[in-house]
Amino acid sequence: MDLKESHKMIAVERIERLLSLAERKLGENQDLARRYVELAWKLKLRYRVRLSPELKRKFCRKCKILWKPGVSCRVRIRSGRVTIICLRCGHITRIPLRPKKNLGFKNVNKLGMEHERDAGERCTCGQAHR
Ligand SMILES: [Zn+2]
Repeated sequence: MDLKESHKMIAVERIERLLSLAERKLGENQDLARRYVELAWKLKLRYRVRLSPELKRKFCRKCKILWKPGVSCRVRIRSGRVTIICLRCGHITRIPLRPKKNLGFKNVNKLGMEHERDAGERCTCGQAHR
């Protein structure tokens, strides 16, 4: 393993530790919790590491608050995707659930892909769907 790789591994470890610290502090001191997430984000950018999907969904990209359903975010599941609304800055993150062959959802286009837009809006496939 070269030096760069081991630096990245250390960065990921530190990011994980910072996020779990943030999780612990969220209840008592939101600003401190946010500071930890900011530090973790800076590490991520500096070492150009990829965050695991779980880590990615832990905090708001925009205001860096740690997400805790009912406390700092609202989570909704709709049309085959998870919508996370940040209660601090209002930023909305949509996470598509893993596409299956037969989704049973109306919001699926010809390619079997999920639509990028909400009903009525123009989709990436160029049509407005219901
Ligand atoms: Zn936010």
